[in-house]
Formats: sequence, C-alpha cells, structure tokens
Amino acid sequence: MIKRDFHVHTTFCDGRSTAEEMVLAAISRGMDMIGFSGHAYTSRDVSWCMTLENTEKYIAEIRRLQHKYAGQIRILLGTEADYFSDGPLEGYDYKIGSVHYVEIGGRLHEIDDSADDHYRIAKEYCGGDLMALAELYYAQEANVLLRTGADVIGHFNLIEKFNEDDCMYDTSSERYRRAWQRAADVLLTYRKPFEINTGAISRGYRTEPYPSREMIEYIAERGGSFILSSDSHSTETLLYGFEEWETYAGRHGIKIMDSPLSLI
Ligand SMILES: [Zn+2]
Ligand SMILES: [Zn+2]
Repeated sequence: MIKRDFHVHTTFCDGRSTAEEMVLAAISRGMDMIGFSGHAYTSRDVSWCMTLENTEKYIAEIRRLQHKYAGQIRILLGTEADYFSDGPLEGYDYKIGSVHYVEIGGRLHEIDDSADDHYRIAKEYCGGDLMALAELYYAQEANVLLRTGADVIGHFNLIEKFNEDDCMYDTSSERYRRAWQRAADVLLTYRKPFEINTGAISRGYRTEPYPSREMIEYIAERGGSFILSSDSHSTETLLYGFEEWETYAGRHGIKIMDSPLSLI
C-alpha cells in the first residue's frame, strides 16, 4: 500500500495542524515520505495562502524538520501554486498546480467556497449559463502547468466540488465533456501526473476523488499517470482513501507514481 502523501497543508496557510504534528502523525502511520504543499502566495487573495513572511518561515521550518527527523522519514518541501500565484515559486522540491479561481471581468471568483457562488457568478457574468462558467474554468485548467511550471496537476475538476449527483453541472452533457477533455488533452502533452485527490471525500463533499472515475479512465487510456493525494489540512486525513483508490487503480491498470520526484 502507498504510504506517501504529497498534498499536505499546515498552519502556515489554511491548515489546522502544524508541520511537526503532520510529520509525527506520518511517522506513527508508518509513512516513509511526506511532502508539504503550502499554498503559494497569491497577492490577489491573501485570505488562505501563505503570506510572504510565512513563506520564509514555512521553508525554514520544513528544512528544520528534514534534519530533525532524518532517518525516520523523508520530508519534501513543496508548494501548491494557484493559477494566479505570484509569490516566489523557485527552490521547491516539487510544485502542485491548481486552479481555485476563475477570472472574469478582471476579477477573481473563488469556485471552491460555496455552491451559491457558482450560481451568482453564472448569473452576473455568464447570462445564467452555468456551463459557460465550467468552460471558463477548464480553459484556465488547460494552462495551469504553463502558468505555474508545476510538476503535478492538482484537483483537475475542482469546479465539481459541490456537484455530487450532478446537482449543478450535467457532467454527462457533450458540452461539459468537451470542456474538460480539451483541458485534459492539453495537460497530457506535458507528461506530468494528475492527482487522484481525496480531499473532497474526506471533507464530505464528494464520493469520488478529483478527477472523477470517468476522467481518470480517459486520462489513463491516453497514457496519463497519477499520484495519490489527500489534500490534508489536519493530521487525521493523511492517506485518506488511498487503499481504496490504489486498489481501483490496480484493477484498471492505472499508473500511480511513487512520488512527484520520479518525473522531475
Ligand atoms: Zn487546492
Ligand atoms: Zn491543497
């Protein structure tokens, strides 16, 4: 079983556990590697990311923990870069690239805060057409590696966070499929792994990871690879659902990478 997790937040950004608490939890669960992915500084919305000052402290603390726990666990210093992150992105062991906002009319609109936001944005900017919002999201998603220079594609279909049972977006519609498949096709050319991200399952929003089964199979059929990630914001969700999704991957011949370093 895979006992490595590379999408981990701490109190340096919007997590609830400290980095050291995460390391201790990882060691006690028999993990041989953990990667931290603090939200990179994004000046257009500082409410959830690391401040520039915290970024310095974060780097120093992860380096300290690497030394302190050397021999017990390998610790990687990563970051989760948003499409709009403009803080320093150099010097990390790896980067996850994610879209958390759609930019319309020169403004950023969060898409992972509430379902109501989607309806409001669609009403104000897309003539009430929710699908147009999804199309804008996937147009940005297609460019997420170009923008961030990331090594891993984070939660590919975050736009579906509040879409359990297709209550907002009809994911079986041609229009929706066309939007995400176009983004997936572009991202596949980079030969970087997509996450299988269980964060919305552990938090009770979804029963499928990001990306959905249909998307995972589409990407895998075209040679794409994956990395399991919990998007943990506290110690108890480390490795969340990994056994189930590793089994699923094995059954479908889907390639799971050992670490984001293996492709760098
Ligand atoms: Zn994210
Ligand atoms: Zn995250």
